[in-house]
Amino acid sequence: MKKHIWLLILLLSTSLLAAKSASKDWEIFLDVLPNARAYMEVATIWESYGAYVDQVEVRRGDVAFLVNKTWIYYQDGRLLSERNLRNSHRYDSLFTEYDQKGPVDRLPRQQRLPRSRDLLHAMFGRTDSQVRKHCVTMTFLNHEVNVNRVCAQALREIEREIYAAAAYDEDVRRFVEELSVIYSFHRKTVKGSRTLSFHAYGLALDLIPGSYDNKHVNWQWSRSFKRRWYSIPEDQRWSPPPAVMNAFLSHGFIWGGDWIRFDGVHFEYRPEIAYSRLPQSVDFWYGGLAARVGLK
Ligand SMILES: [Zn+2]
Repeated sequence: MKKHIWLLILLLSTSLLAAKSASKDWEIFLDVLPNARAYMEVATIWESYGAYVDQVEVRRGDVAFLVNKTWIYYQDGRLLSERNLRNSHRYDSLFTEYDQKGPVDRLPRQQRLPRSRDLLHAMFGRTDSQVRKHCVTMTFLNHEVNVNRVCAQALREIEREIYAAAAYDEDVRRFVEELSVIYSFHRKTVKGSRTLSFHAYGLALDLIPGSYDNKHVNWQWSRSFKRRWYSIPEDQRWSPPPAVMNAFLSHGFIWGGDWIRFDGVHFEYRPEIAYSRLPQSVDFWYGGLAARVGLK
């Protein structure tokens, strides 16, 4: 039975992600991963970034990925390099950050912990010039963008779907026609922190429309004139047409408009999050299979 698990994962995820084939006996992880969620998260990391992973094995009682000579440890979703292991409590899981969506009545009291960039640094480097080597210039919706190679194919498919929708959906056609700027790769940090934004890795796009139709689009702009900016109802927030959203969401991107600190123009490539939200992966990991292999 266990032998079929990875085959099934591959079948499930080929629609979302392209990954290299398994070269390892994956059964060993059943002993070190505590539950179905952990197993799903490890599987999705490997599926999403398999092309950058040279080796996967059990180290220090955890699953570890060898990425460009750096071991990255699963650490319950935190994905940390060896030198960050003792600081594990200072990081949040890559998978839990977007659980809570706006609008909300009040801001969560707890301060958010940062998500480690160790995996991104191991894959793409830390400096501007290192990351640049992983980026390609391409045309997307008639604008020139500079993006990480890892998401270029996804963007081609997204573009194809958006153009197909524009043929019969007037809102989509107008959105594409009036699109004024697309911001892609540029060096910047997440506001209020020293953590690099996904733009700094070529993994995020801001699609700036011709008009926001007098709606709220970014929490930082709204908070200067709206005290309870986090409770602004959905119908007063700007968002791209549904077909545009769906195209991004079905190819591994998440949307910044979903966050409490909303950013309606921002899409970022997080195939691991996208995968873990798919109903079929949830069914797969938390349903019958998890029970059959004895996972909680
Ligand atoms: Zn952005």
